[in-house]
Amino acid sequence: MTKRLVQSPFAGRPLVRPLFQSVVYATDTPDALDAIYEGDAGYTYSREGHPNATAVAGMIDALEGTEGGVMTSSGMAAVSLAMLAYLKAGDHALGSEQLYGRSLRLMEQELPKLGISTSLFDPTDIETAKAAIRPETKVILVEVVANPTLRIADMEGLAALAKQHNITLIVDNTFTTPLAYRPLEHGADVVLHSVTKLMGGHSDAMLGWVAAGSAEKNTRIDGLGMTFGTTAAPFDCWLAERGLLSFELRYERASANAAALAEALAGMKGVKRVLYPTRPDHPDHNRAAALLNGKGGNMVSFELEGGRAAANAFSSAAGMVLAPTLGDITTTVSHPASSSHRAVSVEDQAKLGITEGFFRVSVGVEDINMLTEAFDNAVENAAQA
Ligand SMILES: *Cc1c(COP(=O)(O)O)cnc(C)c1O
Repeated sequence: MTKRLVQSPFAGRPLVRPLFQSVVYATDTPDALDAIYEGDAGYTYSREGHPNATAVAGMIDALEGTEGGVMTSSGMAAVSLAMLAYLKAGDHALGSEQLYGRSLRLMEQELPKLGISTSLFDPTDIETAKAAIRPETKVILVEVVANPTLRIADMEGLAALAKQHNITLIVDNTFTTPLAYRPLEHGADVVLHSVTKLMGGHSDAMLGWVAAGSAEKNTRIDGLGMTFGTTAAPFDCWLAERGLLSFELRYERASANAAALAEALAGMKGVKRVLYPTRPDHPDHNRAAALLNGKGGNMVSFELEGGRAAANAFSSAAGMVLAPTLGDITTTVSHPASSSHRAVSVEDQAKLGITEGFFRVSVGVEDINMLTEAFDNAVENAAQA
C-alpha cells in the first residue's frame, strides 16, 4: 500500500490553519523536489521547516520588523544557535552578568569547552563592557531588562561599542518584547525570544525564535538549526500561533495591571521596596523612559520585610501560582532565592538586592481589583508571620 497526498478534501477551506503533524512532505517528481531544495516554496522534511513554523515565524518577524526569522524548539535553542552561528574556537564572547540562568551557564560552562573564552559585564555600566573587550571578542549577549532586578541595560552604549569593534550584538528580547523595544532598529545584529513566555502566553508551548536582520543573514542560523536539530515541533507552533493572535491585547492589559499593582504594592505596609522600570524610584527609570517607549512591561519585583517565614506566609496567602516562569496569561509569582538564584551565593544575591523577602511577579490579565486585593491580603499575612 502506498500513501497518497490528498490535495483538497473539502469544498471550503478551514479558517484556522491546520496542524501539519507530518515529518515528511512528498513531491510528485524529482524535478519538483529539486526545485524545493533550490529555494522554491515548499517543504521536504520537517526538521528543515514546516508550515506551522513558517506561520509563527512570520508573525514574530512582523512584530520585530524583520523577515526570515527561525523557529527553534525552545528559547535556549535560540540563544545557543545565535551564539554558535557567530563564534568559533579561539573567539571571545561577552555576556551580561544578569542573563537568564541557562544563558549564563552557556557562557560560563559550555562555550569554554568549545575553546571559546567568555567574560561577564554589568549591563548597566558600559565601562565594565569596554574593559572586558579583547581583540578576539566577537559577540556580546545581553537582555534589555534583567531578571529579576528589572535593571535596564545601556543599549545605546552597547550598540555603539559593538559597532566600533565590529562585534555582533545579540539581544534576548524576551522580557521587553517588540511592543516596547525593537533591537534591530537600535543597532543590534541579532534578536531572539523565548516564545514560551509572553508571546505564546499560555504556558503550553515551548519555542524560541531568532533572527539576524535579513533573510540572507538568517541562512547561517537556519542551517545550523537543521544540523543541530533544534527544530520547533508543529503542535507547539500551532499553539503559539493562537497565542500570538492575542499577544498585543494581553501585553497591553498585563502592563497596565503591572503598573497599577506596582503602585498598590508601594503603598502597602510590610513592603520594603518595589521595582518597576517606569517608576521614578527605579534605579534606571531615565533609561527605561528613553528606551521602552513608555512601556514598563508586565513584570514587577518587590521585597517584603522579614525572611523566609514571611515569604512562605505571603505565598500561601496570595493564592497565586508560585512557579519559576513568566509571561502566562494569569499572574504567577516567583521567589528567586529558592528557585532561579538558588545556585548564586548569598553574598552575590545580596549584591543583586535579592533577599528571602524578594519576589518577582509576572502580571497577567486578571481584574486589577482582584489582584491588588489578593496581594494586599498576602502582604498582611506575611507581616504577621
Ligand atoms: C525563559 C527564558 C529563556 C529560555 O527560554 P526557554 O523557552 O525556557 O528555553 C531565555 N531567556 C529569557 C530572558 C527567558 O526568560
